[in-house]
Amino acid sequence: MSTTRREALAALGMAAAGGWIALGSDPVWAAQDEPTAESLPQPREYSLPPLGYAYDALEPHIDEQTMRLHHGIHHASYVAGLNRALARLAEARKTGDYELVKHFSREAAFHGSGHLLHAVFWRNMASTGGGEPKNKALAAMLQRDFGSFGAFRAHFQAAATAVEGSGWGILALEPLGRQLVVLQAEKHHNLTQWGCIPLLCVDVWEHAYYLRYQNKRAAYVSAFLNVVHWEDVAERLDRALALAR
Ligand code: MN
Repeated sequence: MSTTRREALAALGMAAAGGWIALGSDPVWAAQDEPTAESLPQPREYSLPPLGYAYDALEPHIDEQTMRLHHGIHHASYVAGLNRALARLAEARKTGDYELVKHFSREAAFHGSGHLLHAVFWRNMASTGGGEPKNKALAAMLQRDFGSFGAFRAHFQAAATAVEGSGWGILALEPLGRQLVVLQAEKHHNLTQWGCIPLLCVDVWEHAYYLRYQNKRAAYVSAFLNVVHWEDVAERLDRALALAR
């Protein structure tokens, strides 16, 4: 780092926040207790996450062609849409031209929520999934908050099947009550409860099931429940409870 930069940081009063350490022959700034914009790591980039299994792994419940289109085309377009919206908002900050702020805020909400829910959805499924969760904490919480696993399953299935238009059925942790709730999402971002942490999501957009199930959404939701990767849901619950402390 140059002397000029060091002086600039010192002038901004940032010297108190960290210290200079030698890394090879170059002195580098090491953040200590007070984070600065300079010392923070860069935000993560939004990119299409790998599926984690083969496109045909969930056959016959979820077919290979649907999985290929869904992951490679649809999810990829949400990632691109999110990055585009964020770039346009950054541009607005530079130019001070906020005429399209409403449009790109909505685009970021739509594509960002789509990206997040798909990323959870792929991991929520496994060829060895289905049945009931073996994880005791998850099983106990489903029983406490829904009465029984069967009651949860019926509620989840009814909510997912009845989403108006395109959307999702979601099992989430509601952090204020620290309880599990079933949500419907319209599109990706409408009808959320702020702060809820999605644990198990089923995509009920037609692109998720139409090739194999046509208009029979309930049959598709049943098939989805045959591939639920409950260990993944249990891990998500564990992390969500830590966040909701
Ligand atoms: Mn989808």
